[in-house]
Amino acid sequence: SPLPDYLSEVLQACSDEDGGELAAYIPELADADPDRLALALSTPSGTRYAVGDADVRFTIQSISKPFAYALALVDHGLDAVLERVGVEPSGDAFNEISLDPATGRPLNPMINAGAITVHSMLDADRVQAGFAAFAGRDLEVDEEVHASELESADRNHAIAYMLRNHGIIEAKPTEVVDGYTRQCSLLVDVGDLAVMAATLANAGVHPETGERVVPRWVARQVLSVMTTCGMYDAAGDWFTLVGIPAKSGVSGGVIGALPGKGGFAAFSPRLDEHGNSTRGVRIFERLSRDMGMHLMEVP
Ligand code: GLU
Repeated sequence: SPLPDYLSEVLQACSDEDGGELAAYIPELADADPDRLALALSTPSGTRYAVGDADVRFTIQSISKPFAYALALVDHGLDAVLERVGVEPSGDAFNEISLDPATGRPLNPMINAGAITVHSMLDADRVQAGFAAFAGRDLEVDEEVHASELESADRNHAIAYMLRNHGIIEAKPTEVVDGYTRQCSLLVDVGDLAVMAATLANAGVHPETGERVVPRWVARQVLSVMTTCGMYDAAGDWFTLVGIPAKSGVSGGVIGALPGKGGFAAFSPRLDEHGNSTRGVRIFERLSRDMGMHLMEVP
């Protein structure tokens, strides 16, 4: 069929991009094969296309943040979540200890301070079950990556202690960081990520299982926050160039969700100076141009 051929062609065209560096602050991630490259698309009618290294699994890392945020919204409602975590872009790096000076609230759920807070609002079983519903299958934790990251998680511990000092989280900082790091260590492939993104793009209904994973308002809230805060401190560059809600992670994944049209995911481990996959960004720029995906494009 022409669609997989087109996706392979996009991969091919972006494979000469070899700029960027592997994330080094998590020792296990520094060992990843830098040349891995994969792309997947999940349509609202439940078809999934995946090309390249589509069977390679990697840890979800920060791409877990929008999905955990969705689960917290379902469990606690919008007001209770907003009381603890805002929706303003920070313009800071993901691991900046940036809290709103007036309230102590993390600025948004896509930076670590916000994501750690969101995680503290979910119990462990909820994370596993909720992510399984988004993916349409159970996800396993990569214990090595989890242990490796926890070993060097001083910054995230510092953030969690600050959060507890401000009364934003109640749980023990070490336990919250342990759980948050497990959430980041869930193993996915690009097909899983495309279908998870497609569930958000599909107003909360999984395109393959038909299950309503989250209510419509939750999907809208999550996509909105991905639009303004999803691509670290390059959210403005991303939105002007590509123009769709997205989230990236330090292991090299990028998801994009086009409301009503489906979910995309790319994977390639080398990262640019903002922490976004260099090839992932290239791939999405190309897709957006070819397919006219930019949400601000007047038809
Ligand atoms: N586990 C990582 C951290 O909190 C996630 C980082 C990311 O993907 O941006 O440092």
